[in-house]
Amino acid sequence: MSHLMNTYARQPVTFTHGEGVWLWDVNGKRYLDALSGIAVNTLGHAHPRLTAALSAQIGRLIHTSNLYQVREQELVADKLCELSGMQEVFLCNSGCEANEAAIKLARLYGNQRGIDTPTIIVMEKAFHGRTLATLSATGNRKVQAGFEPLVKGFVRVPYDDLDAIRQVAAHTPNIVAVLVEPIQGEGGIRTPDISYLQGLRKICDEHEWLLMLDEVQCGLGRTGKWFAFQHTSIMPDVMTLAKGLGSGVPVGACLAAGRATGTFKPGNHGSTFGGNPLASTAALVTLDIMEQDQLLAHAAKLGTWLKQQFQTKLGGVKGVVAVRGQGLMLGIELDKPCGEIVGKARENGLLVNVTADNVIRLLPSLIFSETEAQQLLDILCPLVVDFLAQE
Ligand SMILES: *Cc1c(COP(=O)(O)O)cnc(C)c1O
Repeated sequence: MSHLMNTYARQPVTFTHGEGVWLWDVNGKRYLDALSGIAVNTLGHAHPRLTAALSAQIGRLIHTSNLYQVREQELVADKLCELSGMQEVFLCNSGCEANEAAIKLARLYGNQRGIDTPTIIVMEKAFHGRTLATLSATGNRKVQAGFEPLVKGFVRVPYDDLDAIRQVAAHTPNIVAVLVEPIQGEGGIRTPDISYLQGLRKICDEHEWLLMLDEVQCGLGRTGKWFAFQHTSIMPDVMTLAKGLGSGVPVGACLAAGRATGTFKPGNHGSTFGGNPLASTAALVTLDIMEQDQLLAHAAKLGTWLKQQFQTKLGGVKGVVAVRGQGLMLGIELDKPCGEIVGKARENGLLVNVTADNVIRLLPSLIFSETEAQQLLDILCPLVVDFLAQE
């Protein structure tokens, strides 16, 4: 019997090593990894340049403390600000921590303006993490059930609905921020109308609220731009990152700009591990390789092609509701729960995920080649057709 706490219904497979977009299990079987540890392994597995840089960093310095200056961390902050146009960065170790920082920042911003019960607007079907504050912000009862009392200070509205936000604005005092995913990941790869973020920006500006974008899943090249908001002309006040930032080494970040800049002062927030030399090197080298190897353009091009292929091959199949997403963040929604496709795909040497019960989710690493994308199509499409033909 396992001594691990029973927090995951784990699949019966153990991997020993990987190379590029491939993983091998303890029996020597090979799998095409179209999930990348849930959008984490930006550069696939065992990327030679990342491996070399991390090995060298481990030999020099793994951890000092945020009581001292950390050069690698400052370089990551510089790079993230250069790429995003944001102004300052707090480094942490995960997505929920990045969002905790954002929530704390919004509350402090409100309190500094004399708002004593600052409230944040959050969305239905949102996912922001599993700490108490972030599970309270999450729009999924399964994540919250049993952990009441929830953290107060959130009001929930439907996603992609600007009128709902305007109504809250009219009836709820003490709003300080809107926290939203530019594309909902766990919620089922839901992409809002192209005018949604622009509309949110306008409402936030009218009320001096912070626009806080959770780009933990959709950021860092996944959609074909560095950040999903860059498909629009707006800038957020706060943006959170994690998953793909360190290519597998835990790193998260909370970025601020505009009216959110300068909110935190020494003593307001911290993290023992956050942005240590090893984690920061992982982020720096990941960003550097993404830039040098032009992985954004690649993700945009390959993602467009993959989506078209899925639309052609599955669009007309009865039971396929939609093929959605942007870049290498794709979802295939079926008209019934389809969790069993995960196991079928695995038996066929392919790793995918199902989210929101009926959405097959694909988050391949940004180094996926066209040949490998073709292999993904060749394995997955017949499985979906067979699954839908049952009964
Ligand atoms: C995964 C995810 C999180 C939580 O990240 P953890 O690293 O698991 O804490 C938060 N927001 C979004 C959008 C995510 O996809």
